[in-house]
Amino acid sequence: MLNGKVALVTGSTSGIGLATARALAAEGASLMMNGLGEADAIETTRAGIAREFGVAVHYNPADMTRPHEVAAMIAACEAELGSLDILFNNAGIQHVAPVEDFPTDQWDSIVAIILSAAFHCCRAALPGMKARGWGRIVNSGSAHALVASLGKSAYTAAKHGVAGLTKVVALETAETGITCNAICPGFVRTAIVERQIEALAQQRGLGIEDAAAALLAGKQPSGTFVTPEQVAALIVFLCSDGAAQITGAILPMNGGWTSQ
Ligand code: NAD
Repeated sequence: MLNGKVALVTGSTSGIGLATARALAAEGASLMMNGLGEADAIETTRAGIAREFGVAVHYNPADMTRPHEVAAMIAACEAELGSLDILFNNAGIQHVAPVEDFPTDQWDSIVAIILSAAFHCCRAALPGMKARGWGRIVNSGSAHALVASLGKSAYTAAKHGVAGLTKVVALETAETGITCNAICPGFVRTAIVERQIEALAQQRGLGIEDAAAALLAGKQPSGTFVTPEQVAALIVFLCSDGAAQITGAILPMNGGWTSQ
């Protein structure tokens, strides 16, 4: 379905981003990967996706806290792979603490990586998408783009900001063949969440699986985690022609969390 398209997934060295990079490659898209990690492991992943799906896969190490590196990555994507048609703004981090104890450097990093980087990517990617008359921008929202949780001030503020950015980009591109949407998963059991499970286990003296169940309880009525592959499948759908009229949508996929 995506033969000839080029996709950039920020934060695709693990978790949801990696699953989405794989799903887009499986549909024939060429890839620009990005994210932190150990160089050898990243190269193994990059080469493995290229071999498995027979598509070009490049990697760019841009740090999402640095706007000039973000802009350079978009330019490199267009220069190396010929265009940038699908942009998934996915990189993210988390820190949990009450507002009065929240480290200011953590606030700055979370807002930079989740919200400002999405702006910088959109800003640099839109001229090329408009010139080509086609584009798909998917922003990583979260249940926390819609509701709040204790201790997650920076994350909740940044994700609510992502929802606002998504709507404005959708309006500004409505007549251009470009769509911009935010996907809002509930808990997905990736590195970000594994750390929260471990903290809860320690706090309450629970085993890891009991802590995982406790994290879901009261939040995610399905009682089970969303999988990275389910998130990836929604993003692949948003890239399809069937989704051409879905734009500016803030799409929950959280087992009922935000319906309560
Ligand atoms: P993850 O930790 O597996 O992935 C985060 C990715 O972001 C990694 O590839 C990491 O290297 C990258 N990253 C972090 N800081 C970066 C930086 N400065 N520059 C470049 N890349 C950077 O976690 P995940 O759960 O896959 O998270 C992906 C996105 O999904 C995040 O935006 C997160 O907020 C969102 N999300 C996650 C959940 C969940 O429950 N896991 C739920 C809703 C939304």
